[in-house]
Amino acid sequence: MSTDFASLGVSPTILKALAAKGYETPTPIQAGSIPHLLDGADLLGIAQTGTGKTAAFAIPMLQILHEENERPRPTMPRALVMAPTRELAIQIKDACIEYGTGLGLKVAIVFGGVGQTPQVKALKAGVDILIATPGRLLDLMSQGHCKLSDVDILVLDEADRMLDMGFLPDVRRIMQKLPRDRQSLLFSATMPKDITALANKILYEPVRVEVTPPAATADLDIGAFDTPTFTGLPVGELQKARKRDLLVKLLEDPDFSRTLVFTRTKHGADRVVRHLVKQQIASHAIHGNKSQGARERALGEFRSGKATVLVATDIAARGIDVPEITHVINFD
Ligand code: AMP
Repeated sequence: MSTDFASLGVSPTILKALAAKGYETPTPIQAGSIPHLLDGADLLGIAQTGTGKTAAFAIPMLQILHEENERPRPTMPRALVMAPTRELAIQIKDACIEYGTGLGLKVAIVFGGVGQTPQVKALKAGVDILIATPGRLLDLMSQGHCKLSDVDILVLDEADRMLDMGFLPDVRRIMQKLPRDRQSLLFSATMPKDITALANKILYEPVRVEVTPPAATADLDIGAFDTPTFTGLPVGELQKARKRDLLVKLLEDPDFSRTLVFTRTKHGADRVVRHLVKQQIASHAIHGNKSQGARERALGEFRSGKATVLVATDIAARGIDVPEITHVINFD
């Protein structure tokens, strides 16, 4: 049932680089984004760090730029990735270099707080992918060291953090210098109204891919996991009822002996539990509308194995510590 990178349309050279990194299965955001991006669609990705979002945009970006087979002109990058912090920018650069091994694309990075001379030099030599924090990029643009008129692909990463850090005015000024005819991607962990407005402005009929934050699981004690593996089941088009049936099918597998299911809403959690109980699957819901006593009973039965499934909103599951969890399902 699981997909692999080849079936998403990823090219052989990149497949080799991914294999070298030990990536076997695309994460849900990757499975949901890569084919659309390779087709040239715009994307709204609602996901945070830890979901594999960097590869979700870097892989198709590298592949498209490689297939276009054009050389960058001096000071004119062909793709621009904007990130709020230098740490994130560096991670993205490293990822592009690793996933792009063998493609011969040039990747450069610019951020503030350091001398600009090496950055100017790199831009002048010609750059396929430029990764930048907004302030320094604007500086370099105003001095004529960087022009955006050749940018075919734009990625705004962690847009909500850009908002929090006060970068939106800079971002908007940069946007004005980009060609209209381009592919645009925006990633944000949350969608405050300023980011929704920005997304509406810069994205054209975007594909929307939303993944439940793994923070929900990161706060659990995952010490007992070996290496977690991620599998995305392509159920986006299924009706809710069929999705619940699929869940039942999965949970009937004895391997799913202690499964945590996340739902987006409290009502969603209750609906899933009602459905599972009807199918004789011992399960409980925990969320903010349950009394402390009910939550403790639910957790107690889950810990002891009397209930094999716990359905929770991510907030409710923060900090719960159940070492023998075999599977985590992000239902929504
Ligand atoms: P990100 O959300 O982009 O910061 O990625 C989170 C971590 O997951 C990074 O350390 C990646 O190297 C790793 N990663 C991304 N995609 C995969 C995958 N398909 N398989 C295994 N690890 C991955």
